[in-house]
Amino acid sequence: VSIEDRLYTVKYRDAGESHLGIKNADVCTDCTTNECEQVCPAAVWTVEEGSNGVPSIAYENCLECGTCRFGCPSDNVEWTYPKTGGGVVFKQG
Ligand code: SF4
Repeated sequence: VSIEDRLYTVKYRDAGESHLGIKNADVCTDCTTNECEQVCPAAVWTVEEGSNGVPSIAYENCLECGTCRFGCPSDNVEWTYPKTGGGVVFKQG
């Protein structure tokens, strides 16, 4: 079973706002390595052409693993748990 197939079994209850953010966009503009894109297992962070290096955040795909929080070498990820009632729902089996 591929990672993608497993990710399809994960649901997300939308809390109405992103629980992920960027502390300082200027830091992203100066970044050349984009660790956020590389470390996230769920492709939440995407640095697109013309974005000035600032990633878009598909927070509704987040698994709440916390990897991006530590993966950014500039400690530029704002990370909280989703509001109560929101967030990832894992199904077993
Ligand atoms: Fe991706 Fe994990 Fe960060 Fe969520 S917590 S955005 S799944 S690295």
